[in-house]
Amino acid sequence: MSTDDKNHTMEFVVLQAYPNYVEAHIAMGYLEEEGIDGWLKDENTVTIDPILTNAVGGIKLMVAAGQAEKAWELLQNLKKEQQAKLVCPKCGSHNIELVSTPRKASNWFSAIIAFFMTSFAMPVEKVQHCFDCGHEFPDTPMQEA
Ligand SMILES: [Zn+2]
Repeated sequence: MSTDDKNHTMEFVVLQAYPNYVEAHIAMGYLEEEGIDGWLKDENTVTIDPILTNAVGGIKLMVAAGQAEKAWELLQNLKKEQQAKLVCPKCGSHNIELVSTPRKASNWFSAIIAFFMTSFAMPVEKVQHCFDCGHEFPDTPMQEA
């Protein structure tokens, strides 16, 4: 069966939304290697408020509905793998997560505002935060190793 047939006959669901192409493509490539049917839906053409579109993630990772559950598990694995590569330079812990600054968003609305502000202030306004010692250090781009 050709790719065209497949796209027309299969139902796709939004698995995850990403704020940029780099993260979306890494996730997509990972899922494809595991045999998941998927594609990236670029929301740039959507005619709603572009600021709000950014805030909720501009690029949707679409996967076949029947594979969504497996794809989601794979995404969690990918996240763990990426996390395992990170080491706190201060205490050596792997208990690290990428956080946006300011990250003290108390609710959905302030999270949107924070995203809006930071995305304009600086292209990469994210830091790695160590949950063991509290140390924060610059984000290393999530390129494939
Ligand atoms: Zn640490």
